Amino acid sequence: MDNSLILVVDDDRSLLTALTAALQLRMSEVTVEAVDSGLGALERLKKSDYDAVITDIKMPGMDGLTLLDEIRKIDPHLPTLLITGHGQHDLAVHALRGGAFDFIQKPIDRDYLVAALGRAIQVRQLHRRVQSQQQTLERHAANLEQTVKSRTEKLLELNQAKDRFLAMLAHELRNPLACIRYGVDLLSISRTEQNDGDEVLDSMSRQVTHMSHLLSDLLDVSRISQNRITLHKTQVNLTSLLKEAVNSLQPTLREFRHDLKLNLPNHPVIVEGDQTRLEQIFVNLLNNAAKYTNPGGQLELSLKLHHDQAVIDVADNGIGISKEMLPRVFELFSQVDCSLERARGGLGIGLTLVENLVRMHGGTVEGASEGVGKGSTFTVRLPVLQPQDHGNNPPEFCFDGAVRHRVMVVEDNTALARMTSDLLRHCGQEVVAVVPDGLSAIDAACTHQPEFILLDIGIPEIDGYEVARRLREIDRLKNMKIVALTGYGQDQDKLRSKDAGFDHHLVKPVSVQTLSELFATSAVPQCSPS
Ligand code: ADP
Repeated sequence: MDNSLILVVDDDRSLLTALTAALQLRMSEVTVEAVDSGLGALERLKKSDYDAVITDIKMPGMDGLTLLDEIRKIDPHLPTLLITGHGQHDLAVHALRGGAFDFIQKPIDRDYLVAALGRAIQVRQLHRRVQSQQQTLERHAANLEQTVKSRTEKLLELNQAKDRFLAMLAHELRNPLACIRYGVDLLSISRTEQNDGDEVLDSMSRQVTHMSHLLSDLLDVSRISQNRITLHKTQVNLTSLLKEAVNSLQPTLREFRHDLKLNLPNHPVIVEGDQTRLEQIFVNLLNNAAKYTNPGGQLELSLKLHHDQAVIDVADNGIGISKEMLPRVFELFSQVDCSLERARGGLGIGLTLVENLVRMHGGTVEGASEGVGKGSTFTVRLPVLQPQDHGNNPPEFCFDGAVRHRVMVVEDNTALARMTSDLLRHCGQEVVAVVPDGLSAIDAACTHQPEFILLDIGIPEIDGYEVARRLREIDRLKNMKIVALTGYGQDQDKLRSKDAGFDHHLVKPVSVQTLSELFATSAVPQCSPS
């Protein structure tokens, strides 16, 4: 409360003098100033910074309430206490609503006055401290913002300069490299005639190919960071693309004496994508698998269908990746071994490219490793095209493991019922009955006892839920799989069909893969909400 300054306002001079003297006596650390009118008080307020004001409510000219309004305009946080006479209770309430800090009734109880004033000064000082801390914080925030802004600008500039440099470097190296490429090719033709020096040329040829890949990657990285890569999408058969990628890698595999196990389906898997870019993705991953595995290693490339996705695993039993590094391998220029004598070379851009290209194809890629020395697996997931997207030549889909079952279809839409049965036959299934409504579904199920029943939910007579419930009560049909084939795919729909006794819940339109997965012995989509 030291150095506090308060202002007392009252037109009654004797009261003013008495009050000032009393306050000064009881609050020695406070300086008390006195003024005898509202206007005079406003003049003082312009000149000094007070901690509190005490004013009489009834004064000629400007009264206490008007003065309070004026004070709140100049300094809304300055605590103002009003002195009210006997019977002015309404005025006091009015003053409190108008923002007065407190009111003191005449005859003045001095203890109360000193206590109220002390509290007012404390509140004022607290507010001052908060204000000054807020200002300091705002200053810091402004400084910080400025620093971040200028650093970001600098970083952006540096990054752009780096991109320009990389692009230029790659371009500059392209021509000399092309000369060497042609030279090597020419030499190799003439040497073949003499049957001499093949090994040296082979090695030179491999190095030139390697350098060309590095340069292409370098160029692509700068293109990607400037969003300048466009995909030329067509329908691409992943199965043969992967075979080609492996073929182009044969020289490297021979050099490292690696054994590569191929696990590809014997039918096409179609994705929509850029043939060259997709090849680049898998050549990069296979190259890494070969590079980061000690000679004589075991690599494996597999392609599987999982729901609507093609899942490609590139696995090796090589040097592996530590837990700490694993999340960082896709970062640009990130390399586990940063020592100068790095035996395996590379620029640390391959996986960045892979990740970006996979993302541009609507897919994902992730790396996994049990740790150093325990090999690595990189998994790419790409959306496959649905059979109806393929035009007139439906590809052969994977029916591996699909056993021939006796299937019944319940569907009230005649065209849809026919197409569903065709599709089922196409999947190698036997369609034993096709019925359009709930009651005949129960009859037909009892007669034919199918292994699977594909049941639409919104059907006439009794709906699919009720059909499922009634079928579940028939003991001799207890092994029959009841599959909901419906347009409703929300979690609550799946829960409802599970409650009714359905085994699986498929959402229309259902793909051939999903159907074949359903009839395969494993990997059947369950009823539970996804
Ligand atoms: P680089 O040109 O260094 O191979 P990449 O971006 O392709 O760059 O890979 C980044 C880093 O990830 C590599 O330097 C390597 O440390 C690690 N890495 C990538 N693939 C494998 C793998 N199959 N086994 C072990 N480490 C790998």
